[in-house]
Amino acid sequence: MLTIKGNAKINLTLDVLYKREDGFHQVEMIMQAIDLADELRLEERATGNISIASTIARLPCDQRNLAYRAAALIKETCQVKSGVHIFIDKKIPVAAGLAGGSTDAASVLLGLNRLWKLGLTTHELEQLGSKLGSDVPFCIKGGTMLATGRGEILQSLVDIKPCFVILAKPSVSVSTAWVYRQYKSQNVKVRPNTAGVIASLGQGDLVGVAKGVCNVLESVTIPVHPEIKRLKQAMMQHGAMASLMSGSGPTVFGLAEDQTKAEYIAEKLKSQCAADIFVTKTVGRSEEV
Ligand code: ATP
Repeated sequence: MLTIKGNAKINLTLDVLYKREDGFHQVEMIMQAIDLADELRLEERATGNISIASTIARLPCDQRNLAYRAAALIKETCQVKSGVHIFIDKKIPVAAGLAGGSTDAASVLLGLNRLWKLGLTTHELEQLGSKLGSDVPFCIKGGTMLATGRGEILQSLVDIKPCFVILAKPSVSVSTAWVYRQYKSQNVKVRPNTAGVIASLGQGDLVGVAKGVCNVLESVTIPVHPEIKRLKQAMMQHGAMASLMSGSGPTVFGLAEDQTKAEYIAEKLKSQCAADIFVTKTVGRSEEV
């Protein structure tokens, strides 16, 4: 049996450059792994079957689950006879903009590569991952990365100066596909200065990074779910260095330099807002398994 952690992610920046002929959007985003993580237990099965169970009743346990698809893909690609039972202890909120499904898929690829002794390189795992979803390659690598293409082309950046992250997940769920379908560049008022944030990361300048966080998908999700804007404002009012919607939403994250401040902000939000609140921290590449 093998146990593996799959970290959630936040987007420090998210820009949509244009819509491509293949229907995908060309994006440019700075992704950051965080310590909030699902835990997956993988048990080899001689029968050859793949099965899934999880702590969340509404999560599908068949081909609709990205973790199942990841197991099926690596089993078929490497012609493995064994099967696997996957148990997902779900800690990352579902359909929240935190890449919960993608990180489970990444964990299954990483975990089965070890359990089945397949010897695939990280690059080969990333290539398999990109067939499952645009965020899966990032979830395989972690740390702080620039993601381009449809999100699957990665460039390592200097890890963010370690800091604390407050997450506020309103009770609504948002479909990533729907948000991209609704996206119109003319509705975007401010675009991220991606190069500026990369420069701040390089200088270890957390204040510079905090000033630069920006996500163009807020232009789609906030008008439909105005509580996102209220959560952003509340985070800033209570002293966050920055607050932003992650991915396609609806989760809002705030950055804080120290744990005491992060917990203070979280307590204030818990008493004032109808949202699930978490305190976590950034995870650098070197800290990942
Ligand atoms: P992203 O930030 O990559 O767009 P997300 O965090 O917004 O992802 P997910 O939590 O990955 O969203 O869930 C999106 C959809 O994927 C849900 O409708 C869910 O049913 C489905 N899904 C499939 N497999 C999983 C999984 N292992 N964990 C969570 N959701 C899954």
